[in-house]
Amino acid sequence: MADIRNEPVVVIGLGRFGSALALELAKRGTEVLGIDSQPKTVQSLVGQLPHVITADSTDIEALRQLGVGDFHRAVVAIGTDIQASILTTSLLSELGIPDIWAKAVSGQHRNILTRVGAHHVIAPEHDMGERTAHLLTGRILDYVEVDADFAVIKTKPPHDVVGMPLRESRLRSRWGVTVVAVKPEAAVGGRRPGFTHATPDTVLSYGDLILVVGPVDNVERFAAAE
Ligand code: ADP
Repeated sequence: MADIRNEPVVVIGLGRFGSALALELAKRGTEVLGIDSQPKTVQSLVGQLPHVITADSTDIEALRQLGVGDFHRAVVAIGTDIQASILTTSLLSELGIPDIWAKAVSGQHRNILTRVGAHHVIAPEHDMGERTAHLLTGRILDYVEVDADFAVIKTKPPHDVVGMPLRESRLRSRWGVTVVAVKPEAAVGGRRPGFTHATPDTVLSYGDLILVVGPVDNVERFAAAE
């Protein structure tokens, strides 16, 4: 099966969000074509991104010449210029790109992007604000909402689930959550091990880190328990 990580990605708009995304993809071995309308922005990335070019993405001929239509995945990372973001997304859709991601700066922007052909819309500032709220309230060390009302959190186990195998702590019936992975506090051979899958036999200790999945209310109640 083809590894999706190796499929090239075109990133349009190399501002703070787009450039961070493009550089991270390149670092992980994905081939990236970066496009921005500002020559200065493009210049600043030459040497860091192997393929980076100045072009106006609202010009369909320019997109065709760059072979953008041959990509399977594209990210429209233009935020401030909403008109350019919408037009670019609709042109990518017209070129038949099967997996279009676009960045939105408002709810209205999000709706329009979906209507003109974006398959995934991300709203980094809005989502990060919501996520930070969850991190600020309670003992949640990391929080990802994977669907409406379903989340994965990183936290420490409350007192009454430590010292016994997970199967005996009745997490599902009491809290409606599942512990999927554990990073033990105890060092093995001088090094702290990474996360491993939790099993019914796993026994948690106070300082362990755990990944817990479940409905948002349930994981939050669980993380707030002493
Ligand atoms: P951020 O908040 O991530 O920095 P911005 O919306 O400020 O996002 O930046 C978007 C980038 O998109 C800028 O570098 C800008 O030059 C670029 N951009 C804007 N319009 C176009 C366009 N028509 N074609 C290509 N790039 C564009």
